Amino acid sequence: MMCEYLKTKEEYKDCILFYRLGDFYEMFFDDALLVSKELELTLTGKDCGLEERAPMCGIPFHAADTYINRLIEKGYKVAICEQVEDPKKAKGLVKREVIRVVTPGTTLDATSLDESRNNYLMSIVSIADRFGCAIADITTGDCFLTEVPGSQKLIDEINKFSPAEIICNDSFFMSGVDTDDLRNRLGICIFSLDAWYFDDDTCRKELKEHFHVSNLEGLGISDYDSGIIAAGALFLYLKETQKTALSQMTTIRPYTAERYMLIDSSSRRNLELVETLREKQKRGSLLWVLDKTKTAMGARTLRSFVEQPLIDSAEINRRLTALEELNENPMLRDELREYLNPIYDLERLVSRISFKSANPRDLVAFASSLEMIPYIKQILKDFQAPILKEIYEDMDSLEDITGLIKSAIVDEPPLAQKDGGIIREGFNEDVDKFRSARTDGKKWLTELEARERERTGIKSLKIKYNRVFGYALEVTNTFRELVPENYIRKQTLANAERYITEELKNLEDMILGAEDKLYALEYQLFSDVRDKVGMEVVRIQRTAKAIAGLDVFASLALVAERNHYVRPKVNEGGVIDIKGGRHPVVEQMIDNDMFIANDTYLDSSKKRISIITGPNMAGKSTYMRQTALIVLMAQVGSFVPADKATIGIVDRIFTRVGASDDLASGQSTFMVEMTEVANILRNATSKSLLILDEIGRGTSTFDGLAIAWAVIEHISNTKLCGAKTLFATHYHELTELEGKLSGVTNYCIAVKEKGDDIVFLRKIVQGGADKSYGIQVAKLAGVPETVISRAKELVEELSDADITAAVKDLTSPKKKPKVEMDMAQMSLFDTVQDNDIIEELKGIDIGNLTPMEALNTLYNLQNKI
Ligand code: ADP
Repeated sequence: MMCEYLKTKEEYKDCILFYRLGDFYEMFFDDALLVSKELELTLTGKDCGLEERAPMCGIPFHAADTYINRLIEKGYKVAICEQVEDPKKAKGLVKREVIRVVTPGTTLDATSLDESRNNYLMSIVSIADRFGCAIADITTGDCFLTEVPGSQKLIDEINKFSPAEIICNDSFFMSGVDTDDLRNRLGICIFSLDAWYFDDDTCRKELKEHFHVSNLEGLGISDYDSGIIAAGALFLYLKETQKTALSQMTTIRPYTAERYMLIDSSSRRNLELVETLREKQKRGSLLWVLDKTKTAMGARTLRSFVEQPLIDSAEINRRLTALEELNENPMLRDELREYLNPIYDLERLVSRISFKSANPRDLVAFASSLEMIPYIKQILKDFQAPILKEIYEDMDSLEDITGLIKSAIVDEPPLAQKDGGIIREGFNEDVDKFRSARTDGKKWLTELEARERERTGIKSLKIKYNRVFGYALEVTNTFRELVPENYIRKQTLANAERYITEELKNLEDMILGAEDKLYALEYQLFSDVRDKVGMEVVRIQRTAKAIAGLDVFASLALVAERNHYVRPKVNEGGVIDIKGGRHPVVEQMIDNDMFIANDTYLDSSKKRISIITGPNMAGKSTYMRQTALIVLMAQVGSFVPADKATIGIVDRIFTRVGASDDLASGQSTFMVEMTEVANILRNATSKSLLILDEIGRGTSTFDGLAIAWAVIEHISNTKLCGAKTLFATHYHELTELEGKLSGVTNYCIAVKEKGDDIVFLRKIVQGGADKSYGIQVAKLAGVPETVISRAKELVEELSDADITAAVKDLTSPKKKPKVEMDMAQMSLFDTVQDNDIIEELKGIDIGNLTPMEALNTLYNLQNKI
């Protein structure tokens, strides 16, 4: 057996091998050491023909799922090796085979899966400077394929899907993607596969075979060279691990990232789209506000909507029109939601059906869900919005399937699949026959009992049943004398004896035989029904998607009504004009009607950049995020929290907000900030929306102001960028830019002075703030009075004289042309001692600098300026 074990282990080197021995899964050698440590199990040993005993540890087979889940969560793969023949019938060693490999991206265990999100496996192939990606969720049958240029874009895609597992070729590790960050921060398991998985011909062949097509054009993916390789590798891997035909994977949908608004990973986090930044929980996120879906499929679809806002105004308006029509008929909308409520997760159910792991109760739940569809269609049929019409068309009543399940399976089948009680009466003649043999058998037994009692005179004589010994005549000890000769003793109890007779034995054979046959037949019939349902996977999946879509639109419509949102005018006009906008999440978090609404106006010409000043706590970040979220919601196809809104489509949203908690990743706050700024400046276009909060805060005032200033100049230059920008800053000096730099307007968030204190009005008004009110805010926060009054003294002494003078100098008429000059030639303060610096620069051995040393060197150089 150990030889067999080692052979199997050799084939599954990268997995922990669960080796079935009787009622246990055993692990040996390194696997045993590892698992005993990870799961705190007792380590034992087994003689294995070697000098030393093999380390071994085991878990009972019925509890395996829990242990497997814990190992998967820790990032391991588990290969399950089962006994594939009946040990009683086996000659010699029982035959064993690996029946499945469970990995983080392919687990099917319902208890470990979050029903409101997909569990994705992502396959990435890095070829030259491009990446092919394929993404699949085997629990729902969703499968996508795309290609992205460059590692930055790839990271954005990874963040969008946040897969549980990535499989990749070796070059992926050398492609500039920070895989440690993916592992540590996003908790993704990454496994590289052998090169043969990524062989072009093998991959093409695999896809053609799986989808039963003669060429890849039919799948619409022939233009995606590297995408095809990623998808081929994905299917090869799935086949290797799942060992089934994967019949639930019926489509593969190609997409281009350009179809969606681009939101880079840090903006995703900062805007708290699906989870909060700190607690990583849904409560407090945009999704939390928008998600009133009734089904798991709807919840997953809404999440993907929020993660992928659209950029095509026609497509967005189609969604908005659907919401509008649903809200014109609120009673029907609510009725639809009532019918959606009892619908189970059809996508995951149908996958379980395909995997043959669905039990009779799953089928009943499935049928009762399908029974809702005719009611839904009845209501939906009069709606006119094109999307709702499409949903109506895609929704198949699937009455044949409901009918089949309902006629075959009882309303409340038992959990156990092999103990009968599954098949409904009248569905199959043989089942009915075996069943009546069973009931008649009971009658025969009672008759026999009465007869024997009469014949022997034993009044207490009873026929008893026991799983091990079967049927027996029980005689209490008082009557032992009366036991006739033909009784054969079978079992002795404390105060009675049990006997068998020839006649009883015959009856037993008939009754028990019928039971065994009945159970086997019931299981067979149930499996047949399950397989028949499994054949309809395409129709079921299409219907499930239609239900998910309807659920999303009904949910967005309801939220719009409850929260008093309006339909935004979405167009390509390039103007963002929000009247009375509110922050969708903050307004839900604070007491009723306490949220102060604000306007936003940004266009492509004179008002491209708003510089927003105002004390801490005034509401600058809230205002800027609210603008980003309103734009994003509009492009998701949701109504928005405002009195009125016109949204000119934006192609990307970038945010640089506050200090992210990146310290754990070993980078200084300032370095993170600058990396993000660099990314934004490199990728923002004139159609992008930028939210920049206190750029330059992480360094000295002087440097910070300089960087902030230069960044605004860069953005305002339409040749270089020209993006719509909200820029919050502490540096009041930046308000000088209004009127001097094209497209810049000043705003501030109003506060009112009340004696020594300030009152936040939360209202955005045009113009710059002239004071910081830092000391008043510190006072509000409860900083001791002694510190506050000392700070006031210091403020008197330390006016910002130096900076103010420098800025005055910079913006004075004689220096003015500099501002609009070519960026390459620009320097902010022209007191540079060029020669020293040039000498020092020449002396640097760049090849041997760490990023941190480079940063420090830069910092020192800058200090010399
Ligand atoms: P800043 O960025 O200026 O320091 P924040 O945007 O963080 O200020 O806002 C501080 C607090 O003020 C927030 O926690 C929020 O609860 C509240 N707030 C902000 N804007 C509004 C508003 N428009 N109406 C009501 N409360 C607001």
